[in-house]
Amino acid sequence: MKVLVPVKRVVDYNVKVRVKADNSGVELANVKMSMNPFDEIAVEEAVRLKEAGTATEVVVVSIGPKQAQETIRTGLAMGGDRGILVEYDAETEPLAVAKLLKAIAAEENPDLVVLGKQAIDDDCSQTGQMLAQLLGWSQGTFASKVTPGDGTVDVTREIDGGLETIQLKMPAVVTADLRLNEPRYASLPNIMKAKKKEIAMKTPADYGVDMTPRLSTERVEEPPERQAGVMVESVSDLVAALKEKGAL
Ligand code: AMP
Repeated sequence: MKVLVPVKRVVDYNVKVRVKADNSGVELANVKMSMNPFDEIAVEEAVRLKEAGTATEVVVVSIGPKQAQETIRTGLAMGGDRGILVEYDAETEPLAVAKLLKAIAAEENPDLVVLGKQAIDDDCSQTGQMLAQLLGWSQGTFASKVTPGDGTVDVTREIDGGLETIQLKMPAVVTADLRLNEPRYASLPNIMKAKKKEIAMKTPADYGVDMTPRLSTERVEEPPERQAGVMVESVSDLVAALKEKGAL
């Protein structure tokens, strides 16, 4: 079984994101970039399937600038076998990414594509769903457990008030939720080994995909600043203060 894992290079989740002075977007210059956290979970799941003897090959794919090679290398250091970078310097949109992944899936014939449930930069949560539609494959979104069977895969999904388990026919698209697993840290020897693994360099033109943006950002703003708190002496003062504000 072959598993394809798309990974996005995003602003590291520990970075305090700053809005550009002209409100056109967020500051990306000199900001630490890392693999999207949900994609680390997707890579971990694929590598565990390989370690369990279920998967035979894990291919890590990214669409992004040259530096996204580092993101792919992280996936290879975690246990991925080889990478594909589709070099593209501007922001990517879910539909264009899904079209590229469809073309890559046509070449690679994976049994499973495991994506993150969302990229923490644009929070779209659309790519996996669009890809499943474009391929005409089954999809299991927001997976908290993935159990492959014979030509099928059981996906447990977190839903309001409980868990739902669905069975998908493979090939299938799965998107990883937070509780699917805890991704490993790559060991130094594995980081060294990953340097020798192959990354194929491609362009959107190789797959005939038009990357022209379909969305335009009107304005990006910081969230409103939090108002300073007020100290009260007692519960009755608190009740009085809340009444005065009309909160009780
Ligand atoms: P999104 O729909 O943008 O929230 O992204 C959902 C998932 O799609 C991510 O967690 C990645 O697995 C994948 N993805 C989105 N954009 C890219 C990209 N530029 N390169 C590789 N994978 C991507």
